[in-house]
Amino acid sequence: MTTKKSETKSSGKFERPDGRKVNELRPIWAKVGVVPNADGSAIYASGDTIAIAAVYGPKQMHPQHSQNPEKGTLRCTYLMNSFSVNERIKPGPNRRSMEISKITEWALEPVLMLKDFPSQVIDVHINIIQADAGTRCAGINAASMALAHAGVPMKSLVTSVSAGKLDKTLVIDLDKEEEDFEEGEGPTDIPLSFTGDGKITHMQLDGKISPAQLKEAVEMARESAKEIHKIQVKALKDSVEGDKK
Ligand code: UDP
Repeated sequence: MTTKKSETKSSGKFERPDGRKVNELRPIWAKVGVVPNADGSAIYASGDTIAIAAVYGPKQMHPQHSQNPEKGTLRCTYLMNSFSVNERIKPGPNRRSMEISKITEWALEPVLMLKDFPSQVIDVHINIIQADAGTRCAGINAASMALAHAGVPMKSLVTSVSAGKLDKTLVIDLDKEEEDFEEGEGPTDIPLSFTGDGKITHMQLDGKISPAQLKEAVEMARESAKEIHKIQVKALKDSVEGDKK
């Protein structure tokens, strides 16, 4: 498949490779209850990026010396499958997957009542089965839905999306071609996660951006997160309706 390169038209207007508007998300598909063995599970797809999350717990933490008697532990394991990209990656954990696992924990912890689960662990396994950038955000969205599906008490869902800057233009939800954008000032990628009422639980920044544009990018992401949040809620409601039938 050939994709049109990002370009600045002679009119000065910036065009995204897939023709999306600057604040337009990729098509989203979300569903819960996709891993029957898990206590809760979800799939979240954003364009060609697909994440599956499976939750096990809360359950007694083993080994015992890892238990925290003050509060429960959220343990996230992010894994990008070797077949998820065209150039096969080495299977198993690596520095990147360990970093993303940690970030996912930080993004989700603020909405969990871990104090209610002393000495216990909630295991969240995130599998990326297809990757086209934004996998950490898709993983966090799937994980948040899977936690809710498992009945883990939460203050709200967490919704994650990447804002970015291609040369000088702010855009939302970068795909891989955009993350590799090389013209002008190049790409800036800003993955963010929000609570249901718009509080930031996670933010990263890869690239360069002015404080004023960063503020604008955060607001764009916050608006997009509202759209994603509705889709997450709908997927959870649909599963409850399905159970009633
Ligand atoms: N990627 C890849 N091989 C790797 C790591 C990443 O092909 O070993 C691709 C994949 O499409 C991924 C994208 O690069 O989604 C961006 O990776 P990044 O580390 O920026 O994280 P992400 O945007 O997926 O959260």
